[in-house]
Amino acid sequence: MAFSKEIRKYLVILLIIGWSIALLFFNQPPKRLYHDNQILMGTFWEVTSPSKEAGQIVLKEVARLDQLLSKYKEESEVSQLNRLGKLKVSADTFYIIKRSKEFYTASSGAFDITVSPLVSLWGFTSQKHYLPTEQEIKAALKLVGSDKIILHELDNVVEFRLPGMLIDLGAIAKGFALDCAVKKLREKNINNCLIYAGGQIYALGDKFGKPWKIAIQGKNKFEIGETLELKNKSASTSGNYEQFFIKDEKRYCHIINPLTGYPVDSRINSVTVIANDGLTADALSTILFVLGKEKSKEILKKFPNTQGKIF
Ligand code: AMP
Ligand code: MG
Repeated sequence: MAFSKEIRKYLVILLIIGWSIALLFFNQPPKRLYHDNQILMGTFWEVTSPSKEAGQIVLKEVARLDQLLSKYKEESEVSQLNRLGKLKVSADTFYIIKRSKEFYTASSGAFDITVSPLVSLWGFTSQKHYLPTEQEIKAALKLVGSDKIILHELDNVVEFRLPGMLIDLGAIAKGFALDCAVKKLREKNINNCLIYAGGQIYALGDKFGKPWKIAIQGKNKFEIGETLELKNKSASTSGNYEQFFIKDEKRYCHIINPLTGYPVDSRINSVTVIANDGLTADALSTILFVLGKEKSKEILKKFPNTQGKIF
């Protein structure tokens, strides 16, 4: 049966459209992801993105913040402040200390960056672990309390009320660095990237149209707790298996209860908090670990759009 002229015309048009779609499809560049990594802030950072430039942008920004916030780098602003007890600091350092004080208040002292003398007393700064005496703990506790940090808003000066006070931003700096790095990416119009920094993750945008899939740690370092699908969210894990020592069959971990002066001794192995930003996720995961399961529910209510998973 012969096709009419009209039908033949439509068939030809359909064929041309089909060819064009096929050509477009085959000419698509392959979906590839670029990976970059570096050790910064004492952690392995890994950046994954369809954008080639993302890795360098993130790692450069984190390195900049590491120079300001590390208590291990002699010339960092944090080290200078720890030595001098009073210092005019950059806007970034001022901001993170200010936010830390807010978390101190919100957690009734469970989150406390002035816990540093205790972290050192237990040997977690030098990695020479030590079981202190009651007297030593009492003496160190006198230097603890973020209410004893004075913030001079007008000129970005941070001042300690007592000589000998020290701060440690280990529970919040990586989360803050994630947020700063994401800001840099967005400024460059890079909107899809996964940043992994040990227990901290930020999932910016998506992976070729699908949320980023990440696995979070469970009861121990080698066990996957859950797989999460994240888009424009951060996840932070605090665990008792990150840094710890065992003495007389008792395990002492690196997260200290600032109210007692002793390492947190709860039945929780790890806590993961999901939030819209890295700083909140990081601070909250430490807080939940200190407070334990029951009090965690109350604290999470104070922070909308957050979720906690306890293992
Ligand atoms: P994270 O792994 O984020 O929970 O942070 C743990 C680190 O924060 C520790 O290695 C200490 O340097 C520091 N730290 C320990 N206890 C506290 C606390 N109660 N509040 C704030 N920082 C803490
Ligand atoms: Mg933390």
